[in-house]
Amino acid sequence: MFRKILIANRGEIALRIIQACRELGIRTVAVYSTADRDSLHVTYADEEVCIGPPPSSQSYLNISSVISAAEITGAEAVHPGYGFLAENASFAEALEECRIGWIGPQAKSIRLMGDKSKARQTALEAGVPVVPGTTEPITAVDEAKRMAAEVGYPVILKAAAGGGGRGMRIVQDESQFESQLETASEEAERAFGDGAVYLEKYLVEPRHIEFQILGDRFGRVVHLGERECSIQRRHQKLIEEAPSPALSGDLRQRMGEAAVRLAQYVGYQNAGTVEFLLDQDGSFFFMEMNTRIQVEHPVTEVVTGLDLVKLQLKIAAGEPLEVGEGITARGHAIECRINAEHPETLTPSPGKITTFHPPGGPGVRVDTHAYEHYVIPPHYDSLIGKLIVHGADRQEAMVRMERALDFFVIEGVHTSIALQRQIIQDPRFRSGEFSTRFMERFRMIPAEAVAQGA
Ligand code: ADP
Repeated sequence: MFRKILIANRGEIALRIIQACRELGIRTVAVYSTADRDSLHVTYADEEVCIGPPPSSQSYLNISSVISAAEITGAEAVHPGYGFLAENASFAEALEECRIGWIGPQAKSIRLMGDKSKARQTALEAGVPVVPGTTEPITAVDEAKRMAAEVGYPVILKAAAGGGGRGMRIVQDESQFESQLETASEEAERAFGDGAVYLEKYLVEPRHIEFQILGDRFGRVVHLGERECSIQRRHQKLIEEAPSPALSGDLRQRMGEAAVRLAQYVGYQNAGTVEFLLDQDGSFFFMEMNTRIQVEHPVTEVVTGLDLVKLQLKIAAGEPLEVGEGITARGHAIECRINAEHPETLTPSPGKITTFHPPGGPGVRVDTHAYEHYVIPPHYDSLIGKLIVHGADRQEAMVRMERALDFFVIEGVHTSIALQRQIIQDPRFRSGEFSTRFMERFRMIPAEAVAQGA
């Protein structure tokens, strides 16, 4: 096992990695920008190195600074967390050249899956169904229009290099096709430096279901069941749960087998997530593969009893996977992402937290880097914590989540807690029958109306 690793991240995930390392007896090196001097990941790591000014382009995304920090501290490997450099194949390669380990999949897997259109082709080769559409990026408008007509409108245009819910455009009919294609390509160029766009059929009421997979260096791949991630806003997840209320045992088995087949086909190592869209008729389609630990990994940990970050470290250190086949979920887990944001405008709400009181009690887990008097810097994403609950069944998990949200007190900044509470109480959420369009129809009740008992 490693003796010392560097964590190329910040916030709750950096702390989460420190926790796993501490339990495995691995020393940790934190890197931080000058905006994060007072962050808990800096406090709890065994060593820390300042890598630059607040903008992430000059600190957390600065490959040479991160590698220098690993070299001067003698870290044997780097854990990238999620976001920042986690899916940067060049970073993984640069580390290899410097003989520093990488706690993640091989660079070739990152590169292959990072290009969504190549990932689609690979899934097809592996015999995994993909959403009908083009397998190559669009080069000729006429041909693309013909393809769109063939798969049927509405269609969705996606940036091949896209991610984080960005770079997608829905086209309702042929009259909008050209203008939307132009916008999509321009947006992709601006956001990802790559204007390549492909098209897929737009499924009208799908669910987002993803499978957690693990692969070791000896070719063994297992899946740890699914996560239901259909509660999204602007294509970004808000609430995740495990298991999905939509899967029968048979469907779970078929989707899990497809996820494992794809991972095996590409010789995948370490933790990864295979994302599917599940249509109303029960057909499922590969959407993309994320080659890193996910924000929502705790729901899988809670129902399987496994520590995914420890498993990532063990796999990267060359240990064989000791996880059995066909792991089944025990009980039900729900996660709410707690963002520091204004509930109505949905804009980030950085600043000083004046009161911070997280919930506790049976079946409650809080992954956060926040604390009382912590100042949330304006430079990074607005996730300040994750509230995860475990119940004997979905009903108990929902009641527990409501209670935990009620007991979660954060003052000084706006948060998504009130919004999450209303979603958990929504009859359609309760019923378990919803799609990725849930939030489009959801209307938050303003705080004043709640106070008056509306
Ligand atoms: P990103 O990599 O940016 O997260 P994804 O390809 O994972 O993008 O898609 C994010 C979300 O967008 C999905 O969870 C789903 O809600 C929606 N989406 C993507 N593709 C389609 C599609 N073909 N039909 C309907 N919704 C889609």
